[in-house]
Amino acid sequence: MSNKIKYQPICSTTFKPNTPDIKELSRDQLVAWLKDQGLKPFRAVQILRWIYLHQADTFDEMTDLGEELRKLLSHHFTINRLEKAKVETSQDGSRKYLFRLEDGKHVESVLIPEKDHYTLCISSQVGCAQGCRFCLTAKGGFVRNLSKGEIIAQVRDIANHLDDTMRLTNIVLMGMGEPLANYRNVIEAVKILTDSDTGLGFSSRKITISTAGLVPRLADLGRELTVNLAISLNATDNETRSMLMPINRKYPVETLLDACAQYPLLPRRRITFEYVLIKGVNDSKQDAERLAGLLRPIQAKINLIPFNTYQGCEFERPQESVINDFKEILTQKHYTVIIRHSKGQDISAACGQLSGKYDA
Ligand code: SAH
Repeated sequence: MSNKIKYQPICSTTFKPNTPDIKELSRDQLVAWLKDQGLKPFRAVQILRWIYLHQADTFDEMTDLGEELRKLLSHHFTINRLEKAKVETSQDGSRKYLFRLEDGKHVESVLIPEKDHYTLCISSQVGCAQGCRFCLTAKGGFVRNLSKGEIIAQVRDIANHLDDTMRLTNIVLMGMGEPLANYRNVIEAVKILTDSDTGLGFSSRKITISTAGLVPRLADLGRELTVNLAISLNATDNETRSMLMPINRKYPVETLLDACAQYPLLPRRRITFEYVLIKGVNDSKQDAERLAGLLRPIQAKINLIPFNTYQGCEFERPQESVINDFKEILTQKHYTVIIRHSKGQDISAACGQLSGKYDA
């Protein structure tokens, strides 16, 4: 561990037990609640703008609401922030946030500085049920789904507390958990993230949902959202993929890729295929050739992720030359290929290294 890593334990929460977080409500639900109280729908717009545009922490700040309504809201709802149990900064500038949730469970989000913007990698579940053999999050098993409010809060809490002028523009659901296994909460959270009127106003083009391949949910996702889709493919034959990713036994490679070929894409959009390169497992030239062939019917681009090691892992990262050869084969076949050298490895913030463990 380098001595450049900073630890910044920060605590903040407005949590009141048994009072719901207003962020769990959609705009329509808030309108309905207001109607029950004999109040007009436009109040919902005011309230939500306070929460997402002005980052209000209390209803008292909502000065255009009138005292009675502010009191009523305070009585029925809270505006929760997540408790930052720990923030670690890597030598490469990426920052890992460990959040303690109301029930004492933990999740992690990673803020990654790019050339001219930040990307935030957020979690969708505490733990994960997919059991992918190479992923550290999987080792802890599944604990629970994150609520819609908890998913939004990872973004809301970080977005406006950046200490420099570079903006957070990109969100990837590539942290802990399988987003499509927490489908409804993820969809509703993304709707708030992309709502430019009363939400956080992110562009759908800058949000990516990554999945291990829950095939039946892909069609639903394509109908409901226009965010980017990333598929963790990670192997080109069923035997290897089933060994690495148990979900492949249910939805094998050909079923998954058929669903991808049918996925409704907006013009000029492509599906990203993530491929974790593991030494001696899926990194041969034949794998690269097969991958090129498999993705032919799909508007695809490819992210190669050299395997990130962690204590006790059974796999290794291929040599640089093997990684480059793999890329070269795909590039020659006219694919757009990026080698994603994950950031934040010194603080275990890289792909597949999030454990959500609190060890102060
Ligand atoms: N469950 C979703 C979201 C997690 S994304 C999914 O599977 O897509 C996490 C990404 O990191 C996935 O593409 C996964 O294949 C990759 N990954 C997991 N463990 C890794 C490791 N040790 N090294 C590199 N990449 C890893």
